Amino acid sequence: MAHMPTLHFLQFVSARWVYAEDRIIENGGVVIEHSSDGLPRILRVVDPRVSSVPATDLLVRAAMELAGHAGKTPQQFERLPDRCLGEVVLLPAMVNCHTHLEFSDCRQPLGFQRQGFSEWLRSVIERRAEVQRLPDAELLGKKSNVCWQGWREMVASGVGAVGEILSRPTIEYFRESVESNANPAEPPFFGTIFHEVLGLVPERARASWEWANVSSTRRPIRGVKFGLSPHAPYSTSTWLYRQCAEHGRRLSLPVATHIAESEEELQLLSERLGPLKDFLEQFGVWRPEEVECRNVRDVLELLVGVENLMLVHANYLTRDDWCWLRSKNPCATIVYCPQTHHYFGHPRHPWVEMARDGLQIALGTDSRASSRSLSLWDDLQLVHRLYPDQDPKKLWQMATVNGANALGLGHDLGSIRVGSMARFCVADLGRTESRFSWESLLSSSTTMSGLE
Ligand SMILES: [Zn+2]
Repeated sequence: MAHMPTLHFLQFVSARWVYAEDRIIENGGVVIEHSSDGLPRILRVVDPRVSSVPATDLLVRAAMELAGHAGKTPQQFERLPDRCLGEVVLLPAMVNCHTHLEFSDCRQPLGFQRQGFSEWLRSVIERRAEVQRLPDAELLGKKSNVCWQGWREMVASGVGAVGEILSRPTIEYFRESVESNANPAEPPFFGTIFHEVLGLVPERARASWEWANVSSTRRPIRGVKFGLSPHAPYSTSTWLYRQCAEHGRRLSLPVATHIAESEEELQLLSERLGPLKDFLEQFGVWRPEEVECRNVRDVLELLVGVENLMLVHANYLTRDDWCWLRSKNPCATIVYCPQTHHYFGHPRHPWVEMARDGLQIALGTDSRASSRSLSLWDDLQLVHRLYPDQDPKKLWQMATVNGANALGLGHDLGSIRVGSMARFCVADLGRTESRFSWESLLSSSTTMSGLE
């Protein structure tokens, strides 16, 4: 049978405002190219003050000139009818840097607001145990479905990529469903999947590492980058942190870890005492000799040289530590999870001071086990309410370009420009505005959604 050439579709999408190439374009638009065998890309940004919408033959030529289009013929291109979105703002999709999709079916956060951290961990373990009672095949199928449910919720609220922490064996199942595109009706997954490793008991740590070491270097799949996530200083041995750091440095893999999340964690490291120690002892897994680090700086030192490093939460990081981190790793990112931070009732997050000292700040929802929604938009609006004096455009960058860079996806996402991926969100400002402002974008009357 003759090989059918792939068809490429070109479409002009316009809106009252388009935020592209770092400027707001009034009555602007973008030309998108998509096909069945590739991720949709942006072919042109159209600013009516400079140029009109190019004719089809010009667009076809531009598409053929874009990298990777050698050998394509003009007959393989088809122009779809223009699409006008109306009185809305077309923006690059947001990037949710930190989540655990396996908890996406929690109707509300676990435990209760402002409870102790180890108390909350107990609720997480109880919840996991409940799910774990299902037979194996059913369990993995259910977990994978729950992950997709969470992904759909994110996409609907304007997210285009995620930093997802997955543990074994859910990761194998989810990965397979992403790869096989089992349900074409689902929005295609895009993001970085971090292999979660943990264990203080040496045998458990070793088993965790052996799996992640092999799995994280498997053949990449379309739309997915792999990374490593040593869970947290209270659950992950120093040996395991060293393995992840070494592997991350050698293979340039992104590495994410929860750090300085609670005062209980700091107490465990420095005094080897407190509610977290009691919690670990209760489960028979407290091995103080496997935790060489006596403070957060010791953990950060283990991770020196990891280029794409994400420090999740960092609620209690000191200025000394973040300045030291900045001097050792200018590319490291702090991932602030506003709804989750708020749920635990931690003192004000120091991200403003961190950013002033030159650290990159990105945003994450964390999971539904500690956040009321998986909408990064909700988190962004919460930050705007809590920090009303902060430049709303800077907040927007935290939710987009900073997140894309943190996940190692800056080439594809974070801004609208020629060659980047066509993943957008659409903001309806909710009232008649004669001009766009970042303040009005972040106001509570704005509705944010993904672009279908
Ligand atoms: Zn987390």
